[in-house]
Amino acid sequence: MNYCEKCHMLLEEATCPECGGKRLRPVQEDDYCLLAEKEELWAGMLEELLTNEGISCVRVGMRGAALVVNCGASERYRMYVPYRELERAKDLLSLIR
Ligand SMILES: [Zn+2]
Repeated sequence: MNYCEKCHMLLEEATCPECGGKRLRPVQEDDYCLLAEKEELWAGMLEELLTNEGISCVRVGMRGAALVVNCGASERYRMYVPYRELERAKDLLSLIR
């Protein structure tokens, strides 16, 4: 598996479809990989589930917080977990889908 450091994407391909980057490297155990993109409610649930299982996760908002406050729209988050926990995290994710 290849890994794009810029997008935190796991890839089969030699080129990253997100950024067009060609300087991919083999994935390592500690690399954070994209698990899912969820709305705030789901992201919160998933984060709690992962934390309870001892999986560290990072969530990144897709829009600025100010925008969400102003528009009242719900924020979407991208959730990342370390590669070594990715399979376990996917199993957990399937439980709440
Ligand atoms: Zn990329």
